[in-house]
Amino acid sequence: MVRGRIHSVETCGTVDGPGIRYVVFMQGCLLRCQYCHNPDTWDLKGGKTVTREELLQDMEGYVPYMTFSGGGVTVSGGEPLLQAEFVAELFKGCKERDIHTALDTSGGCFTGHGVQRQIIDRLLEVTDLVLLDLKHIDEAKHRCLTGRSNAHILDFARYLAEKETPVWIRHVLVPGYTDDELDLVRLGQFIKTLPNVQKIEILPYHQLGVHKWRALGLHYPLADVRPPTDKGIQRAYLILTGKRTTV
Ligand code: SF4
Repeated sequence: MVRGRIHSVETCGTVDGPGIRYVVFMQGCLLRCQYCHNPDTWDLKGGKTVTREELLQDMEGYVPYMTFSGGGVTVSGGEPLLQAEFVAELFKGCKERDIHTALDTSGGCFTGHGVQRQIIDRLLEVTDLVLLDLKHIDEAKHRCLTGRSNAHILDFARYLAEKETPVWIRHVLVPGYTDDELDLVRLGQFIKTLPNVQKIEILPYHQLGVHKWRALGLHYPLADVRPPTDKGIQRAYLILTGKRTTV
């Protein structure tokens, strides 16, 4: 039996997909986003292990809320694709119970080859929606912001388009880091090539996770960065959706 390593569970989430969601935060991430508000999910060996049956049993009491609100189960992280096999099993159990499934991922570890591809295909068969974090369209700035290339992420976005998997694109707006006009235009142009995108969400940068960095003894690199203004958020949304290409 495949066991999953999870960080925590949120039973009535409302921001990670449609309706009321049972959100499972998987443990482990290879990226190191400078704005990460869950650095306690990074450690691949942290968290606790569970079986899918334990999770399915725990979520049972919340199914009426999910059904009534048009919600379901979201698996987030950390990076859920690192444990794609477990998530596929969990989602299979959800689909057997007619529960909507959403995968909140950066796609950062996607290779598209061999066994991993077979597992990801199995996972996508039982995934109703992917919440795909596109962090930066510029390769160099992406490396600087997350510590890794964006090549796998963009490949994963194209792969989801090929598979016609419904996607919501999410972009964390960090003033001075991810709000450059040209970058937003380029990101918007890339998103436009993906016919499976149903929605684009701007996630305003915030500092709610700073205490976790401190608790882990880590230096928080964006301490001087303030959240974006409403106007900045609106501007980014209009550019990403192609409704405004110049300021
Ligand atoms: S991908 Fe998510 S969990 Fe991983 S470092 Fe970035 S924000 Fe944090």
